[in-house]
Amino acid sequence: MTVARVALPLAAPQTFDYWVPAGLAVARGSVVRARIARRALAGVVVGVDQSESVARERLHSIEEVADLPSLPDDVTDMCDFVASYYQSAPGLAHALALPPLLRRRGRAASGKPPVAAPTAAAPATLNDDQARAVAALVSALGSFSPFLLHGATGSGKTEVYLAAAREALARGGQVLVLVPEINLTPQFESRLRGALPNAHAVTLHSALSDGERRASWLAAARGEASLVLGTRLALFTPLPALALIVVDEEHDDSFKQNDGVRYHARDIAVWRAHRRNVPIVLGSATPSIESFAHADAGRYTLLELPRRAPRAAAFPSITFVAPRGHTMREGLSQALVDALSQRLERREQALVFVNRRGFAPSLKCVACGWQAGCPRCAARLVLHRDPDHLRCHHCGHRSNVIAACPECGNVDLLPLGSGTQRLERALHSLFPAARIARIDRDTTRAKGAFSAIRAQIEAAELDILIGTQMLAKGHDFPRLTLVGVLGADNALYSADFRSTERLAALLTQVAGRAGRAGLAGEVIVQTDFPEHPVFSMLATHDYARFARTLLEERRIARLPPASHVAILLAEAHARADVDRFLDDAHAFARERVQGGHGDVEVFAPVPALLARRAGYERGQLVVQSERRSALQAFLPQWRDALPAIARKRVRYAIDVDPAGFC
Ligand code: ADP
Ligand code: ZN
Ligand code: ZN
Repeated sequence: MTVARVALPLAAPQTFDYWVPAGLAVARGSVVRARIARRALAGVVVGVDQSESVARERLHSIEEVADLPSLPDDVTDMCDFVASYYQSAPGLAHALALPPLLRRRGRAASGKPPVAAPTAAAPATLNDDQARAVAALVSALGSFSPFLLHGATGSGKTEVYLAAAREALARGGQVLVLVPEINLTPQFESRLRGALPNAHAVTLHSALSDGERRASWLAAARGEASLVLGTRLALFTPLPALALIVVDEEHDDSFKQNDGVRYHARDIAVWRAHRRNVPIVLGSATPSIESFAHADAGRYTLLELPRRAPRAAAFPSITFVAPRGHTMREGLSQALVDALSQRLERREQALVFVNRRGFAPSLKCVACGWQAGCPRCAARLVLHRDPDHLRCHHCGHRSNVIAACPECGNVDLLPLGSGTQRLERALHSLFPAARIARIDRDTTRAKGAFSAIRAQIEAAELDILIGTQMLAKGHDFPRLTLVGVLGADNALYSADFRSTERLAALLTQVAGRAGRAGLAGEVIVQTDFPEHPVFSMLATHDYARFARTLLEERRIARLPPASHVAILLAEAHARADVDRFLDDAHAFARERVQGGHGDVEVFAPVPALLARRAGYERGQLVVQSERRSALQAFLPQWRDALPAIARKRVRYAIDVDPAGFC
């Protein structure tokens, strides 16, 4: 009898056996439908055996083989690797490789991939740095070769990807391009289509309909689409002729999935490139410390584009203004207000960046110091206007604005600090004639809202943009010549070991929006700590040097990438349940470490940085090792022991190579 081992999309730690009826062609990678607990689920066959030891009656049969191309070996191997490396259920890992719409039987793909409408743009004449980078990539085609492309914002990284992709396509290969954000895909997409008019390009991201995603997936899996552009989920697409992988903005946290299967798409992309023997280029203006460490160790080839690409485009000038000791109007310094009025006179655009949405981050009683807190989280409520309400940014809880302090009855409640809404009001009253737009998650929630604003910016229908980090990344606005940065100092107080790296990347990206097309750019940063290394880095435009300083700090503190970390995250309604679970998990781990995993260090459980969220008490336990293999050898036993340690009331997850501590 033929028995298929099937990975079903369930959190179970195992695969499931089914017998294969005669006449069904089933092999590793086949996508099948199988019944479990009265549900028919789509799963992936991970192995097929001949077995006489099991009685047929004890197994269900495979119901049908889906009308889809089988997953190729590199994709099933990648899913196996993801499951084992990230300690996740095999079925959930394999589900990442399946296209949507498998649940509805017999329904044909409805969406069509968007058709290329080329206006064929002549490729830019590459400068020497770009040409060198392209030559290195092209000569690596056909072999595994990881590259780190470090180029300042506007240095022409995208032109390098395009030139390398053009060559890979000309040789009949497929190219996979990963970007962190859906918002970045339309702009990237039109550039790709313009520069590579003969490529059949498809996109894959979560904002597409299921039908569109399925159509893109099929076109890629059948080898019809030559170029796949997408977010992290596109990484798992079958690509029979894969020849080159590009990961743009490789430092971006969006490549890390933080629920379900907690994989890092950049890291797994490198694994896939290795498995397929193709080059991969990781590009960024602010590469991750991890990637710099790989480059320094000789594992990645470093390609640098130190200058801005278009002739006459210089780096912006950077000025610091200290809020302390200066008169501020609603959080705005006089220097920034003056610079804004200049831009209005010159009909240029300005961006004021503040990474907080809402009106004010907190509502405080001036008499007794009470601040409005979320009843379900260990966090403050954010004051929002239009309409007035208090909102928790962690769990979404909303309540009415209270009229008096619940502690002392005082009616003098003060909105503390400044968010995008407050800044918008302030700028409207300072510049009544200016056309101002606020761009944050609240104003761009509706489908198409963000692209509508983008179009207005490009058509010069807006003068001042107020934006959160949504607007910091990748966008190219030719008339934007001034960037003001507010509230950057808040990030300096964060307890997360990656906060300085993130701030440095964010500031560099925001500053990079200023002055791109021959118009000089200016950046004004309001900070009380201009001598902080993160700001000196910004002033000298030397991210690489700063990154190496951070790397040295991480080595001394034995933090990633100088060590390899996994976190056990736990939550429950009662703190005692969290504590007991983590204590037991800790004791188990300690015992194992003493019994032969001496290279692994187990830390004591601690409350999460956000100790309560949405009614759940949260805690975490860190294990780490200087050797990745030692950590990987230890984790499976721990993972397998946890179900028995956890009682019903505790939810938990293991996060390997976490983006930070939570
Ligand atoms: P990055 O991806 O590094 O931010 P881009 O590739 O978007 O940089 O290039 C920034 C701008 O410079 C774009 O408008 C691009 O068309 C232009 N550009 C890139 N390379 C060249 C070049 N060699 N000559 C002239 N303009 C260039
Ligand atoms: Zn009070
Ligand atoms: Zn909350």
